[in-house]
Amino acid sequence: MSQLKYCQGPLCHTHDTNDRKKGPKDNRRNETRRRSNFNYLGGNACDMRCQSEWFDVYGSRALDHFGRITEAKVLTKDNAWSIRYNWRSQEDGGYQHYVHNHLTNERRPITEQQYDSGHTITSDGQLNI
Ligand SMILES: [Zn+2]
Repeated sequence: MSQLKYCQGPLCHTHDTNDRKKGPKDNRRNETRRRSNFNYLGGNACDMRCQSEWFDVYGSRALDHFGRITEAKVLTKDNAWSIRYNWRSQEDGGYQHYVHNHLTNERRPITEQQYDSGHTITSDGQLNI
């Protein structure tokens, strides 16, 4: 059984929806949503509005805490690899799996097992499995 957790949106309780209303009729109040699973803010906010409000309040502090980008990041041919596949019918040879370099357009074939295995790609386009 999964554990219930609260939405981390700082204003979640202020959004007026029926599912947030709690308590007896003479003491109705809105409460922060509580669920076993959320789909926003990395599983911590109930909807896009709460995610956005979290970022409005805490985003700058989070960037300061974890470190800002202070110089341009660069995509070169050494880190421009991604893993892809092309659909093909069985008669036409089936799916084609490959690593692709965005900058050089180089393609290197890989197996379906390599594609599915949760790998990383080295700077020279080899799979780390
Ligand atoms: Zn929320």
